[in-house]
Amino acid sequence: MSNTVVTLIQAPSDVDYTCPWCRERIMQDFEDFLDDQGLSWSDFPDWQYEYTTCPECGEKIEDVPYEFD
Ligand SMILES: [Zn+2]
Repeated sequence: MSNTVVTLIQAPSDVDYTCPWCRERIMQDFEDFLDDQGLSWSDFPDWQYEYTTCPECGEKIEDVPYEFD
């Protein structure tokens, strides 16, 4: 008998989004995404409302919300 719950900690592995400028669907390894965006894991809690730069067309996508699959 136990009330212990094992929580599975999720880590992002990939990103998937569609650029509103060039309509390309971007699917990237999360580490590559961080590299492209000049971000690191430690930025993660803060980049909720930061812009993302599309690797296909180079346009900035503003106010990007992040969600977990
Ligand atoms: Zn684009």
